[in-house]
Amino acid sequence: MKLRYICTVTLLGILIAVHGCSKHRDEIEIRCIENMQILESAAHSYMLEHNLSPTNIVNPERLKVFIKGSELRCPLSNTPYPAFEIGRGPECPSSQEHTRKYRDQRCPKQPR
Ligand SMILES: [Zn+2]
Repeated sequence: MKLRYICTVTLLGILIAVHGCSKHRDEIEIRCIENMQILESAAHSYMLEHNLSPTNIVNPERLKVFIKGSELRCPLSNTPYPAFEIGRGPECPSSQEHTRKYRDQRCPKQPR
């Protein structure tokens, strides 16, 4: 009885995952942007804690202590984010579009 329940839940999880990958590109993009926002705020905490400046480069590996759960990766390619300049924020390793939208959301009123 319990096993059957676990199987159903697992199958449901797989279905949702497959469905999410194939049909909801927007959701992937949103998750990636959220990941980059999490990395950015973690990088700011790291900067303050280590007395760094916004021009310092930080490796997301070092931000693990600030982030709960597993390592952040772009859901599109499952690639971890590369090291980035704290002041600029992270870049998506798999889609320039993700990076562009993240930066747009970050500074919506930036003067030209
Ligand atoms: Zn991405």
